[in-house]
Amino acid sequence: MKFDIDAFNKKRAAAFNQHKTILKKLSKGQALFCEHCKQPLQLDLNQTDKHQGLVSCGKGCTHIELELG
Ligand SMILES: [Zn+2]
Repeated sequence: MKFDIDAFNKKRAAAFNQHKTILKKLSKGQALFCEHCKQPLQLDLNQTDKHQGLVSCGKGCTHIELELG
């Protein structure tokens, strides 16, 4: 049996790229909005783990942990 590592990697890469795009836009001061509640997304870089940032909306339906590398 063959584990489909390709599909797994593609999924991971897609999520990673999406996070990178979000981070890029927010760090440029560009506004992004939660797709659920339409509230502005905020970037919080003061996480306990310094390699992580948190993107969230006011209501909490968006909660994305970003890898900062
Ligand atoms: Zn929201």
